Amino acid sequence: MTADEARFWSKVIKGPRENDCWLWTGAVGDDGYGRFWIKTPTGQQAVRPQRFAYLLLTGEQLDPDTKLMHSCDIPICVRATAGTDSHLFPGTQAENLIDRTQKRRHANAHSWRWRGVGRANFTAQSRQLRDALKAHGWDESVIRPLMSGHDPDAPTLF
Ligand SMILES: [Zn+2]
Repeated sequence: MTADEARFWSKVIKGPRENDCWLWTGAVGDDGYGRFWIKTPTGQQAVRPQRFAYLLLTGEQLDPDTKLMHSCDIPICVRATAGTDSHLFPGTQAENLIDRTQKRRHANAHSWRWRGVGRANFTAQSRQLRDALKAHGWDESVIRPLMSGHDPDAPTLF
């Protein structure tokens, strides 16, 4: 593992349940998504943590134009594995998945909290979740409601 990789994973907290999100606790930009700074030969570069995770876990370098979309709707989630347990899907795969979800009229438990809330709220919610993770770790009674607003004992759909 490189120093960047070790530093990256030190900023990620994985939820206790099998299919839980893996949440980024580092910097969050004004768009509500994470930022991870890596050293380059010429200085530093900010990368999106979910894209960095995708590269680490799948070995695949995404085209800069290819979107990586969250099926869990949690903007700071970095669970970008190569398997079906991934929460992040590139390009058309993501569109198909989201289309399927909408056809079922059955979005996941987090959707209503994160979709259509406007940029300022979206960013504020991301930072609130990040700050709670940094302060308490993954405390179910704090973290689960911040992700979904649902009762912490309610089953997550994803
Ligand atoms: Zn997730």
